[in-house]
Amino acid sequence: MSCPLCTTDGGLVVARTLQFRVVRVVEGDEAQRFPAFYRLIWNAHVAEFSDLAAAERHACMDAVAEIEQVLRTQLRPSKVNLASLGNVVPHLHWHIIARFDTDSHYPAPVWAAAQREAALPALDLAALDAAVAQRLAVMTMRAGPCAEAAGAVASSGETNASCIR
Ligand SMILES: [Zn+2]
Repeated sequence: MSCPLCTTDGGLVVARTLQFRVVRVVEGDEAQRFPAFYRLIWNAHVAEFSDLAAAERHACMDAVAEIEQVLRTQLRPSKVNLASLGNVVPHLHWHIIARFDTDSHYPAPVWAAAQREAALPALDLAALDAAVAQRLAVMTMRAGPCAEAAGAVASSGETNASCIR
């Protein structure tokens, strides 16, 4: 079976570590309706969160929390939604989505039916991407540049060769 998250990045890569990458959804209806829609995608093909070792689970959720914090600080959204489903693509990924009470689906989930025409605030997505990348780079440095728990972040999408094991 061909897995789309093993064969493609799954979105615009904002940050990449040895363990996971963070992408922004830039294609399709989802990107139009929910512009601040990020995914943390585990690099290795595992289906379930409990397939990860404890240290990996911590690194994963620490990164999710960091991204959530950036969205809260930068956008002041009505809510940040976190979700991990994997029913369609059973390759571990977390959705981190800034929601606004003026978006097309609020307060329903992003996968439900639209309820209205959206009236979204203007968002500087390039600046938001940069803030997410910066926050994850700081997190990775705190863990040590070659820490197995964090991996090396490179804003260009390239891993730090000196840290590859
Ligand atoms: Zn996969």
